[in-house]
Amino acid sequence: MPTPDSAALLAARFGPGSSACLSVPGRVNLIGEHIDYHLLPVLPIAIDRRIHLAFRRREDRHIRAASDVFGDREFEWTTRLQPSAAGDWENYIKAAAQAVQHKWELSYGIDVAVVSDLPPAAGLSSSSALLTGITLALLRANGLDANFEELMEILPEGEYFVGTRGGGMDHAAVLACREGAALLIHFAPLSATPVPIPADLSFLVAHSLTTAEKSGEVRAEYNARRTAGSSGLRQLGFDSFGEALAQHSVGNLKSMAASRLRDPEQRCFRHVITEASRVTRAVEALKEGDGQSLGCILNASHVSLRDDLRISNNDLDELVLAAGASGALGARLTGAGFGGCAVILCRTADLEKVRAGVIERYYSKRSGFVPEVHLLTATPCAGALYL
Ligand code: ADP
Ligand code: MG
Repeated sequence: MPTPDSAALLAARFGPGSSACLSVPGRVNLIGEHIDYHLLPVLPIAIDRRIHLAFRRREDRHIRAASDVFGDREFEWTTRLQPSAAGDWENYIKAAAQAVQHKWELSYGIDVAVVSDLPPAAGLSSSSALLTGITLALLRANGLDANFEELMEILPEGEYFVGTRGGGMDHAAVLACREGAALLIHFAPLSATPVPIPADLSFLVAHSLTTAEKSGEVRAEYNARRTAGSSGLRQLGFDSFGEALAQHSVGNLKSMAASRLRDPEQRCFRHVITEASRVTRAVEALKEGDGQSLGCILNASHVSLRDDLRISNNDLDELVLAAGASGALGARLTGAGFGGCAVILCRTADLEKVRAGVIERYYSKRSGFVPEVHLLTATPCAGALYL
């Protein structure tokens, strides 16, 4: 695919002149789903589908923004910005302006154009790539430089402005991933360690063709999973999942949950602790180059997301089955769930066979499939800080 031209969009919308450019990738989470907001480690990769931004400094405190997909927006920020209507992309721009001002004094606004080859609402984190991109553009236009730790202090909270009570995985991944590697992210304390992907293992990202846009009901369902997990934790007398897992085996914690928690707290708590142990085992499997074990771990994660956390749907379940039947080592839904994508692990030598099998078993029965949009080879690439 040709690189989308954000500078041309900037010139077309806001007039000719010099501009700076940056890009932020999307991400695919390999394992560790719905546990970053409980401060447990996760293992995503950044992918070579990006939000591209061209921007230039303004002399006033206005932000004008143009997008290839959505309409132009313009506003002047104040110290307390109010969210626009739910689902409006302007909220991500406001979220960035607000987040930056938690830590830095801004003097200048920006004109910015956003062009993307990262499908929105697919569970590939276009929202965090956009928020991160606007944040970096605002900082750079104001002559400010922020490091990974500083950005991680403001970005997750930025997304709260839009209404999603997520964790820090997406922002960490789109910033700090390295080429050829997954990123093991710890949140308490924050660290990001590359885990190389062996050359004989490859990942596909397959869109179920059902949307995962986090608006209205889906956002409420997402936030409810977080609340149920935290509530289960408190009822068992722990302050954090890290503390619970440091003091007890996963088996013990499961027994405690079974005898003392009701659903949905019991199910959500069980997902969190078993998923945390799968992250640890997945890192070991990657380090040992053990694709077979990694595939089993991905499959087990999908079952937990389907049955315990209950964030899958029939399409995602079918897609995961289609991947298995096509010779994949394992597959699971990835991202927030309720639609969106599955990540599929296969031997690099089997990539084309698995791709063809998934097309035949899944996509040939559905309309709207565009191969270069909906079935991607997920090449692990660098985040915005390492380009
Ligand atoms: P995901 O992060 O999985 O892609 P979300 O629902 O969290 O899904 O975020 C999608 C939202 O991000 C879109 O509805 C839109 O507001 C914003 N967005 C994504 N891509 C673009 C783009 N190219 N231009 C403007 N806004 C975008
Ligand atoms: Mg998102």
